[in-house]
Amino acid sequence: MNLLVHLDQQLALLDALALRRRRHVATTACTPHQTLAAPGAETVSTPLAFCSNDYLGLAAHPALAAALAEGAARYGAGSGGSHLIGGHCAAHAALEQRLAQWYAPYIPEVATLFFSTGYMANLGILTALGSSDAVLFTDKLNHASLIDGARLADAQVERYPHGNMDNLAMRLARSTVALKFIVTDSVFSMDGDIAPMQELLALAQQHDAWLVVDDAHGFGVLGRHGRGIAEYADLHSERLIYIGTFGKGAGLSGAFVAAHRTIVEWLLQRARTYIFTTATPPAVAHALLASLDLLEGAEGDARRAALQRHVAWLQERLPAALASLPGCPLRLGASQTAIQPVIVGDNAATLALSARLDAAGLRVPAIRPPTVPAGTARLRVSLSAAHTRADLERLVAALVEHAPQVSAATLPA
Ligand SMILES: *Cc1c(COP(=O)(O)O)cnc(C)c1O
Repeated sequence: MNLLVHLDQQLALLDALALRRRRHVATTACTPHQTLAAPGAETVSTPLAFCSNDYLGLAAHPALAAALAEGAARYGAGSGGSHLIGGHCAAHAALEQRLAQWYAPYIPEVATLFFSTGYMANLGILTALGSSDAVLFTDKLNHASLIDGARLADAQVERYPHGNMDNLAMRLARSTVALKFIVTDSVFSMDGDIAPMQELLALAQQHDAWLVVDDAHGFGVLGRHGRGIAEYADLHSERLIYIGTFGKGAGLSGAFVAAHRTIVEWLLQRARTYIFTTATPPAVAHALLASLDLLEGAEGDARRAALQRHVAWLQERLPAALASLPGCPLRLGASQTAIQPVIVGDNAATLALSARLDAAGLRVPAIRPPTVPAGTARLRVSLSAAHTRADLERLVAALVEHAPQVSAATLPA
C-alpha cells in the first residue's frame, strides 16, 4: 500500500464526514476576544469565543506574564535536562512544596510531583501504579489521557457506565485482584457534570481501593479557595490520588499529582513520562507560584465568583429563552461548572448552528458522536471569568436568533 495515497484517502473521508479539523492562528493573547486568522485565509477576525479552558481568565494576566519573564531572567530559558538528571530546579521544588501545603488538609502525609502536562501525568501515574496485579476501574466518559494511560498500563481495565455507582460497586465486590484503583474525572469534559466524589471515596474505602481523580477542570476553579474537587467535595483520605492541571484554571501549563508520600516516591522512581522527558522550563514553575498566589488571594475569590455568576445566569436565562421558541429542539444540560452543553441532537443541525454563530462572530464548538453519545450532538459552551454579562447576553440572543433557522432547515418537522 502506498502510504501517501492511503492517507489522502483517509483524509478525504474525514472531509466527506465533515470531521476534518483545522487550526486557527491566534495573533493576540488568550481572551474571549482574541484575534484569529482563519485557516488558509488572509482574513483575520476577533470573534467572541466560548471555547477556551481559561476558566478564570488568567492566561493573559499581566502578573503571570511578568512572573514568567522574571523566572526566565532568574533561571534562564530551558531546564537543560530531565528532573532526575540535572533539570530539577529550585522553582520546581518550591512549586511542589507549595502544592503539598495546599493538599495537606485533604491527604495525610501528602507529597506532590510536578509533571509537564496533564496528559503526561495521567499516562505516567496509571502506568506506574497499574501493575499486572492491579485492576483499574474507569468511568466510560473519562478523558482521553486516562483512557490512554489505562491502555498502556499492565493492569486489567474495567470500564463502568458513566457515573453508575451500583455497577462500579458490583465490579469492585466481585474483583479478587490484589490492588484496585478507581479512576475518574472530577468534572466531565462534555457535560460539565461532577462525579459523585463522596460515593466514590466511600466505595474505595469499603473495597480497599484507591481513588485516582483527574481534576483538570476543577483545579483553581472549584472550592472556596480554588483547591478544586478536594475542597469542593470535602475529601479527606489517604486513598486519594489527586491530579491537578495548570493549563486551564491556572492559566499556564503543567500538572501535578498530590498523594501519600510513598506513592509519590514510587512515581518519582517509575513514572516514565516524568523520568524520560526534559523538565519544564523553570520560569513556568516560577510563574505557577504567582498563579497560586492569585488563585488563593482576593483576585481568585473574585474570579471564581464571577464565573459562578455567569454559570447561574446562563442556567437561568438560556432555558427560558429556548422554551420561548416553538418546537426548538435545543436544551441546556444542567451543569454547575464552566462547561455548559447546549444539546441540539442532530449532527448536521449542530454543525449548521455552529457555522451560523461563527458567521455572526461567535465561536462555539460543535461536538458530535463518537465524542458524545449518538443523538446528543451539541454546542459546548465554555464560560470564563473573563466574559462579561454582555458577552453572555450576546450568546443567548444569537442562539435565539439562529436556532430556529437551523432546526427548520435540517430537522424533520
Ligand atoms: C485538559 C485535560 C487533561 C490534559 O491536561 P493537559 O495539561 O492539557 O495535558 C487531562 N484530563 C482532563 C480531564 C482534561 O480536561
